[in-house]
Amino acid sequence: MSSGTAVGAGTRDGHPLPLDSTDHGWMAQGLCTRRDDVEFFPAKGRRSAPAKVVCQQCGVQLRCLDYAITNEIADGVWGGLSPQERSTIVLRRRSARAGGPGTSAV
Ligand code: SF4
Repeated sequence: MSSGTAVGAGTRDGHPLPLDSTDHGWMAQGLCTRRDDVEFFPAKGRRSAPAKVVCQQCGVQLRCLDYAITNEIADGVWGGLSPQERSTIVLRRRSARAGGPGTSAV
C-alpha cells in the first residue's frame, strides 16, 4: 500500500516513515518501523485503532505528532492521531495565530 505522503522518498509499503531519510533520525526509532502487521495508512472504512495503540507505546510519539502537524501530513496515523484529528489541531493553531476570539495555541 502506498502511503501517499509527500514526506521524503523511499516510504516502505504500509509504513508511514521514510526510513532512508537522513534528516529525520528519530523516525528510525518509531515502533511502526517494526510493526508490519499494523496498518498506519488504513484504507477508508478500516480501523485506525491498532495503529494508535502502537503509537501510544512509541518513544517518539510527540516528536512524530509535531512533525505531522507542522508538515500538515494529510493521511495516515502519525503520533497516535488520525488525519482528521490532526486537522483539528492544525485549524486551531491557524486560528490562534490569526488571533481569533476564544482561541489558544495547541
Ligand atoms: S508515533 Fe506512531 S507513527 Fe509515529 S513513529 Fe511512533 S509508531 Fe510510528
